[in-house]
Parts: sequence; C-alpha cells; structure tokens
Amino acid sequence: MKKTKIQIDYSKCGPDGNTDPRECRKCMLVCDPAVFLMHPTLEDHPDPWNPERWKVTAVWPSMCMGCNKCVEACPEQAISMKFGESLHMIRAP
Ligand code: SF4
Ligand code: SF4
Repeated sequence: MKKTKIQIDYSKCGPDGNTDPRECRKCMLVCDPAVFLMHPTLEDHPDPWNPERWKVTAVWPSMCMGCNKCVEACPEQAISMKFGESLHMIRAP
C-alpha cells in the first residue's frame, strides 16, 4: 500500500525559515483530521532547550483526506505532498 507523504520545508517554515509556525499555524487550522502537530525542535539543533525553536510536522499522514487545503493555505509554499492511500479512503464504502 502506497502511503501518503507530507513534507515541510524547514528552510521556509521553522526556526531557520521566514515564518515562525507559532504565529502562522494556517496548515493546522485548515486541516480537519488534525494531521499536523507543533512541537519543540528537540532533536535537530545544538540547543534543544531553546524555547524559541518550534516546528510543525505532519505526524498522522495516514489520516490525510487529500483535500490539499494545507498546501493552498501555506504562505511559504513549504508543504509538499505525495498522496497514497489513507485511512479515510480505506474506510470509505
Ligand atoms: S491535504 Fe487536507 S487533510 Fe491532508 S494534511 Fe492537508 S489539510 Fe490535512
Ligand atoms: S502554513 Fe506553512 S508556513 Fe504556516 S505553519 Fe504551516 S507549514 Fe508553516
């Protein structure tokens, strides 16, 4: 089964990008199944305890309905998607 992949370009959104995800959150607001999570960047920078560094990750891509709203809402064009089968499609009659 081909899985849906959702990637965020952190050179555009995140502690090293143009947009602070804590101020934007547009992808999170438009996503009905709540695929995205905002969390501290604990694992991938030299100071894991810096409270200013947060990022958005698509942690539940299997819940994606393929509506494309997050891609359209992102002001940085930071989200790219490869659609596969999701739990919604599998459950559909
Ligand atoms: S395509 Fe739709 S359901 Fe999928 S992550 Fe984006 S907003 Fe959510
Ligand atoms: S909509 Fe785009 S820029 Fe805004 S938080 Fe989501 S990924 Fe980042």
